[in-house]
Amino acid sequence: GFNCGIVGLPNVGKSTLFNALTQTAAAQAANYPFCTIEPNVGRVAVPDPRLDDLVRIAKSQKEIPTQLEFVDIAGLVRGASKGEGLGNQFLANIREVDAIVHVLRCFVDDDIKHVEDSVDPVRDAEIIETELMLADLDSLERRIVPLEKKAKNGDKDAKAQVDVMAPVLAVLRDGKPARVVKFDDEEQNRLFKQLGLLTSKPVVYACNVEEASAAEGNELSARVFEMAAAEGNSAVVISAAIEAEIAQLATDEEKKEFLETLGLEETGLARVIRAGYDLLHLITFFTVGPKEARAWTVQKGAKAPQAAGVIHTDFEKGFIRAETIAYADFIALGGETGAKEAGKMRLEGKEYVVQDGDIFHFRFNV
Ligand code: GDP
Repeated sequence: GFNCGIVGLPNVGKSTLFNALTQTAAAQAANYPFCTIEPNVGRVAVPDPRLDDLVRIAKSQKEIPTQLEFVDIAGLVRGASKGEGLGNQFLANIREVDAIVHVLRCFVDDDIKHVEDSVDPVRDAEIIETELMLADLDSLERRIVPLEKKAKNGDKDAKAQVDVMAPVLAVLRDGKPARVVKFDDEEQNRLFKQLGLLTSKPVVYACNVEEASAAEGNELSARVFEMAAAEGNSAVVISAAIEAEIAQLATDEEKKEFLETLGLEETGLARVIRAGYDLLHLITFFTVGPKEARAWTVQKGAKAPQAAGVIHTDFEKGFIRAETIAYADFIALGGETGAKEAGKMRLEGKEYVVQDGDIFHFRFNV
């Protein structure tokens, strides 16, 4: 599976957000498989209204959404790259995640101490980014030295690695994150990813605003959106406090009503989950039958056998073909039978690139 790490300075609302995520998931546990793997790791259902439509049309007994994993990474403060706070532990935790949800405090509340003594989300973002850049710089500077020696002695692999590291080092020394470096060459891109740099991971900023600003955001979140746009990153507005309240409500109807009274169309959690999904270039395919309708996740560009492999490794090994119906056809033609009759069920082979919303039946050899 894919995962997102929730990071941010202390007292910005990370735990509130994480708890709301996992409580929501726990509340849904009757219907959805959910587990807390470790205290700070939770798997959360990815909201997708298409799955509700599929269940309705196919009259499936069960609805199983796809999931995204979130990791609450506490303990970052100024100086973490030098071992302050939980320093190294924190950085090791970030190394493990695929993407970063960076929570920024955009609410003013004198009762809640800010570690930097004032509320300034753009500065806070820079503090964390700086720690991550310093950690990357340190790790690259250490790793490049022996490789340069090897490269000089004619080691081609080492030379290839140095050629990737050098421009990244230059960018980091210039005070910019590794993600601004783009390699056109596929092999170089692979080596770059292999470096596992903290600042090469995609980021979405989650602006934690006071309840009254949950719909529109506030001046502070507006500044974060400006910064994000300039960096080419994305941002969402959430109110962790509201999310915590919503998580306490028992039924979907109560939640919907509560959202309506606040003038909100959906929860901030839904936005965060979707943002994480987008950051990781993930798409959804479905399997639909009378027993269950289920959503599954693959990365954009995945081919049909890989999608089959998400369900079971045997499906991938013995893959023959995928009977495929596009979501829109399935809905417009009233389900599988209608789609088949209209000639909208395609037989796709090993080279078929999965499209978001595809409904598959895999055929495979055992
Ligand atoms: P963390 O250290 O980043 O995990 O922050 P917490 O989630 O523990 O939140 C720190 C404090 O801020 C707690 O007392 C929260 O109740 C409070 N808090 C979180 N979000 C909000 C918010 O949107 N508004 C206000 N007023 N307080 C909040």
